[in-house]
Amino acid sequence: MRQRKERRISRAFYIGRFQPYHIGHHTVLSSIADQVDEIVVGIGSAQRSHEIENPFTAGERVVMISRSLKDLDIDYYVIPIEDIQRNAVWVSHVKSMTPHFDLAYTNNPLVFRLFEEAGIRVQRSPMYQRETYSGTAIRERMIAGVGWDHLVPVAVARTIEEVGGIERLQEVARDDVE
Ligand code: ATP
Ligand code: MG
Repeated sequence: MRQRKERRISRAFYIGRFQPYHIGHHTVLSSIADQVDEIVVGIGSAQRSHEIENPFTAGERVVMISRSLKDLDIDYYVIPIEDIQRNAVWVSHVKSMTPHFDLAYTNNPLVFRLFEEAGIRVQRSPMYQRETYSGTAIRERMIAGVGWDHLVPVAVARTIEEVGGIERLQEVARDDVE
């Protein structure tokens, strides 16, 4: 007879575009890591890249996030998820691409609503210094050539440097106005 009951692993889901992954996201995931056994990070708008709002490819974002999460004591999966332009079936789309998860964390009202309607447990994640840590603000700094690397985990800055991310963003931003 078995003495010990196996405890089922609890797995949480968290989604963003992560253009780029920054310290606000990392703070949220650090706190989620204290509450569950495994994390599934969905990279939204995975098909988008080389745009002012979406400079980095899904693959580059996988690297940024995977390297950053190594610092946390948690098992994780980082999964690109393309847009489907059909909110009513978006949760099924997400589930088709991810390992099973028990709950989702988000502060996006639409995402919250869609998970709730699909019967998935969902919790609000708090904002961490949003004026400072925001993808839009970081991209603006990158375009303007103002310091930005203190706003992202060290591993993210290294990844962006490796792929020539700043030059790329400045170039696509130039194309847009000239
Ligand atoms: P963008 O300005 O490009 O929209 P973002 O900073 O909002 O970038 P997203 O990838 O859109 O980043 O965000 C993913 C999730 O992280 C969203 O639900 C967003 O509200 C949340 N988030 C963004 N910034 C913070 C922050 N500083 N603290 C906590 N959560 C954040
Ligand atoms: Mg956002």
